[in-house]
Amino acid sequence: MKKVIDMRSDTVTQPTDEMREAAVNAIVGDDVYGNDPTVNRLEERAAQILGMEAAMFVPSGTFGNQVSLLTHTNQGDEVILPKYAHLQAHEGGGAAIIASVMLNTIDTENGILPIDEIEERIREEDIHYPKSKLIWLENAFGNGCVLPIDYLKEVRELSNKHNLKIHMDGARVFNASASLGVDVKEITSHVDSIQVCLSKGLCAPVGSILASTKEFIDKARWYRKMLGGGMRQAGIIAGPALVALEDMRERLVEDHDNAKYLAKKLEEIDGVEVFKNRLDINMVFFTIDENIITNDEYVKKMEDKDILVGGIEFGEYRLVTNNDVTKEDIDYFIESLKEIL
Ligand SMILES: *Cc1c(COP(=O)(O)O)cnc(C)c1O
Repeated sequence: MKKVIDMRSDTVTQPTDEMREAAVNAIVGDDVYGNDPTVNRLEERAAQILGMEAAMFVPSGTFGNQVSLLTHTNQGDEVILPKYAHLQAHEGGGAAIIASVMLNTIDTENGILPIDEIEERIREEDIHYPKSKLIWLENAFGNGCVLPIDYLKEVRELSNKHNLKIHMDGARVFNASASLGVDVKEITSHVDSIQVCLSKGLCAPVGSILASTKEFIDKARWYRKMLGGGMRQAGIIAGPALVALEDMRERLVEDHDNAKYLAKKLEEIDGVEVFKNRLDINMVFFTIDENIITNDEYVKKMEDKDILVGGIEFGEYRLVTNNDVTKEDIDYFIESLKEIL
């Protein structure tokens, strides 16, 4: 079978042989009763690695974010977050439907909300206003930027001053820690709760982690069940998720190096413009002069060469390196792109 190179996302990654084996061999029980030893082990390890008191396995990142939102807020509360955060732009309006909160978005180039601008958005107590409850950070931010540690400290200080909580949508927080070269705890120590995807660059077939205090996670378990996320013999998927968590974090730097290599090669092509200030993780954002090729032609012609790429979104193309994409694959991609342009 000819290899198809898939750079649409890191969610497309295949589970490794070790993960398939872990799925087959997982000792399982009914996790709704708390009786699945593999899920319990995953949750314990996730809490340890993230430096949190407790963790809970959830079906997806969206699920973890929505449950976190429900747990932190009451109906009508306000959440301050970057515009185009996943919660606002990619969760089907769930924040309005499920937790029924107000989203107060701030424009940002890189996911970094200026501290004074956050402070401006925080409401005083007044019968006219919604109640400010939560600051929502996304790290790495969806456009490829990682939040600096010093910035997290400043947000923590501000939120303490105003008695707000901080949730981090850390779908790619291990990419962030790999990019900064720090232990992930240096990031998580500044937030109250975090959602982490195991099914992206870490290659697990299914699942995310929500981590926080024990009290928070106890409450969140009730919401997970309510929303239909209580899974029975879930060890079958927690087994591979545990392999993802233990074995796949260290190699993320490879994806980052490959992304930088890809960016460098792309830049050399006439008509291609790379966003060079957003190369912190495994993503490369760029534009191609429309007079040379349209979106539809680009996607179709690459597919003819057995390469899957994302179409234009918010005016940009995105390529994502991952465990199934080698440096040779990137060379083949560049060669193919030059041919079709
Ligand atoms: C992918 C992603 C999610 C959601 O994860 P799913 O498992 O696809 O639901 C949430 N936030 C961010 C920043 C993501 O990149």
